Amino acid sequence: MALRAFAGPLSYLQGPGALDELGRVLAPYGDRPAVVTDAFVLDLLDDRLARVLAGLDAQVRVLPGEITAGAADALAASVRDASPGVVAGIGGGKALDAAKAVSLRLGVPVVTVPSIASNDSPTSRAVAMYDDQHRMVSVDQLPANPHAVLVDTALVAAAPTRFLRAGIGDAVSKTFEAAACAAGTGVTTLGTRPLRVGAAIAGAAYATLRTHALAGLAACERQEVTDDLEAVVEAVVLLSGMGFENGGLSLAHSLTRGLMQARGARDALHGEHVAWATLVQRVAEHDDPAEVADLRGFLDSLELPVTLPGLGMPDPTPEEIREIARVTMTAPHLANLSLPVTEDDVVAAIQTVESGGR
Ligand SMILES: [Zn+2]
Repeated sequence: MALRAFAGPLSYLQGPGALDELGRVLAPYGDRPAVVTDAFVLDLLDDRLARVLAGLDAQVRVLPGEITAGAADALAASVRDASPGVVAGIGGGKALDAAKAVSLRLGVPVVTVPSIASNDSPTSRAVAMYDDQHRMVSVDQLPANPHAVLVDTALVAAAPTRFLRAGIGDAVSKTFEAAACAAGTGVTTLGTRPLRVGAAIAGAAYATLRTHALAGLAACERQEVTDDLEAVVEAVVLLSGMGFENGGLSLAHSLTRGLMQARGARDALHGEHVAWATLVQRVAEHDDPAEVADLRGFLDSLELPVTLPGLGMPDPTPEEIREIARVTMTAPHLANLSLPVTEDDVVAAIQTVESGGR
């Protein structure tokens, strides 16, 4: 029988003020931890960050722009002499990916502290690397997941609601992607066939969002931390992250490759791509049209995009749709489907979604 792997963060802490625990979390790794952040968060947190890191002689560095191999090399070189025993990333996706990339180069653990909840990358070992033109060039893998993930829900609630909404889009797909991976012949991002645990966790993410997403977004809009917001953040960061890493990705995430190069849609957030792409995957898999319509209604109620124009691509031409499908077919997750899917099938599924599911 085939080997099957499980992975997750070593520890996870969520709630208002979680950031203030960072010093206590980093202390056991010794003095001079490396801290990678972005200019926005450094400005936002300023004095608080100095308080949180007091007494640790933290080596704070700011990711200057895009998260490229060159930028990661430079950040790693700038802290190497301090021999940090851990790297902490604080901020948006790029800062966290930069911290992961630095930890990979230094061979030490990483701790992630997301300032927004726009996707599930904080819990995962995946590192999205780009070039200077913001084209994704690779998804590198750490040897292990973050040692700790600290999600300060007061920061999440204070950030623009669009980020949390996108995080919901990234999380809703996982139950369908895990089911497709289990049904197909493919592997998870851990490189093995899935255990049952991934699908179980991805299912919990979806169930949590169906119950709490609407009220959680409303709380975020009011910049208020409520039980609904806490539930949504857990689904978006922890359940979704463990769900995809252990359950596998499928057509929905493959489609984001095509969308990253598509007119207008390339500027949408990852989770917005995934929301729409989940509908395409379900159509391509011939899921019950009533269930697909139900999901469409749910996404629509959350103001997540359910069409290409909704993603910023008005009046997509047949050639543009064909190009999205063509690039999609280059993704590594295409074996993770319950049935073989061709480029023509993807084109047809996109057209069905664009026509409102009819
Ligand atoms: Zn994703």
